[in-house]
Amino acid sequence: RRRELSEYKSLPAVTRSGKKIRVMANIGSLSDIDAAIQNGAEGIGLFRSEFLYLEGRTCPSEEEQFLAYREAARRMDGKKVIIRTMDIGADKQADYLEMDREENPALGCRAVRISLTREDIFRTQLRALYRASAYGNIAVMVPMIISVWEVKRVREIMGEVRKELEKEDIPFRNMELGIMVETPAAALTADDLAAESDFFSIGTNDLTQYTLALDRQNAKLERFYDPYHPAVMRLLKMTCDAAHKAGIWVGICGELAADVKMTEKLIGMGIDEMSAASGMILEIKKAICESR
Ligand code: PEP
Ligand code: MG
Repeated sequence: RRRELSEYKSLPAVTRSGKKIRVMANIGSLSDIDAAIQNGAEGIGLFRSEFLYLEGRTCPSEEEQFLAYREAARRMDGKKVIIRTMDIGADKQADYLEMDREENPALGCRAVRISLTREDIFRTQLRALYRASAYGNIAVMVPMIISVWEVKRVREIMGEVRKELEKEDIPFRNMELGIMVETPAAALTADDLAAESDFFSIGTNDLTQYTLALDRQNAKLERFYDPYHPAVMRLLKMTCDAAHKAGIWVGICGELAADVKMTEKLIGMGIDEMSAASGMILEIKKAICESR
């Protein structure tokens, strides 16, 4: 019997050979959470925190961020909410950061590079995340990682923030620290990075851009932008193998996760979790259930 798409909402996504794949939602603001729940998301696989940094004229305060993260954690009711630390720079500029104009913003000061340059801003975000962690199941994910030292430094700062909160008697839970694998450097050194990370989430949008040396914003290059390129596929496979060898899970949160022609192939590579826009969740679950 063919199932109606809506029937997949309450079904776990299990392949025909019995592998369970988690299907999560990508969200860009709190107002996206309703759709995630309505479509049966098993959690939030990517919460882009940029909205907090782009909406005002100053950096979002700790309190403002805390309230947003706490609301996400509460509304997901114990389901995992993976919050990505700020991914400003490149296409998303915030004037109050007063960053110099760059010739090559995609190769410039963005994401974790800003976090590790402006530690004040990063610590505020981490404090807000830890405070919110007491209200649900929050994990942290860092974008644009290229080197092991960056992950180590992030962990160090997280440890310092925890000590601070302890001193202030503010409750928090331990949070997993995952990284986005979205640069060729990260994929090629995934074995080293896996030793320092609790999970991987592959950002195929940027991974494609950086692997193919091709600006993902440039409409003129559309016919060359190829997320199925064998170079991208090999990096995906390397990342999955390195993750599993180190005993951590690996997901995809880039657009490729929503490409149901690819579902079976991605599962074959070893992908454990798919995270995509809420409107695609049921289709993805269906594709998983129909995969080998
Ligand atoms: C990606 O790069 O694939 C990704 C999920 O992050 P973003 O699209 O926000 O850069
Ligand atoms: Mg990205």
